[in-house]
Amino acid sequence: MKLAVYGKGGIGKSTTSCNISVALARRGKKVLQIGCDPKHDSTFTLTGFLIPTIIDTLQEKNFHYEDIWPEDVIYKGYGGVHCVEAGGPPAGAGCGGYVVGETVKLLKELNAFDEYDVILFDVLGDVVCGGFAAPLNYADYCMIVTDNGFDALFAANRIAASVREKARTHPLRLAGLIGNRTSKRDLIDKYVESVPMPVLEVLPLIEDIRVSRVKGKTLFEMAESDPSLSYVCDYYLNIADQILSRPEGVVPQDTPDRDLFSLLSDF
Ligand code: ADP
Ligand code: MG
Repeated sequence: MKLAVYGKGGIGKSTTSCNISVALARRGKKVLQIGCDPKHDSTFTLTGFLIPTIIDTLQEKNFHYEDIWPEDVIYKGYGGVHCVEAGGPPAGAGCGGYVVGETVKLLKELNAFDEYDVILFDVLGDVVCGGFAAPLNYADYCMIVTDNGFDALFAANRIAASVREKARTHPLRLAGLIGNRTSKRDLIDKYVESVPMPVLEVLPLIEDIRVSRVKGKTLFEMAESDPSLSYVCDYYLNIADQILSRPEGVVPQDTPDRDLFSLLSDF
């Protein structure tokens, strides 16, 4: 199964992705997480360091795919989750879609792409140009991380439009929204009333999640020494269980930009 996690920059995609990956591994799945954000820190809380990116490795080997070994680019992270960072195109040049394409190509050449029960792509979704939509070409399900604010929901609606578009030629479904770092959900609810889609989970702001980034650990690893954190792990296990039950998901009917402004405003 291939999953693509999208959402606005800084919304909590990588944090959520790493913890979902461990949750899926806890359920006995062989998991690969692929960071597709040029920020290349997607897998940081799994490995505890910034692993070399596919693009750096390809450049180092002059794009000789045959000189690259799986251990050059696939790192073993916490809980048995395998980790890859696609890396970014050069700043101001190149295309994120090209980077994702090269990453998938290399993993296929290494016979690694079909070796996993679950591959999770962690993707930046502020602007969804064709390049950043590329992971949707490989995905069965898209999940969108959002808070209860206008900007993240605006990005979510754009991502929903990309899913709708790709679903015309590909069996892709939107599994749903993951509310993050918010205790309120009135705008999220208003949005899903207008554009029906499941809300898989809503996580509040939790200080230990913020700390997990600084420590380079997932919540599951932190819970080993502090069992009081197991309630946070349960949020991620719940999301993993919903995904593993292969939900029907939706092909979203996104709303026009201008309608979204009036829907989410008070005036
Ligand atoms: P993204 O990958 O979307 O850019 P990150 O996952 O890197 O975002 O998260 C950005 C920051 O927000 C990190 O420092 C992370 O620890 C923090 N964060 C994410 N989710 C939560 C949460 N539910 N509560 C508190 N802090 C969070
Ligand atoms: Mg990230």
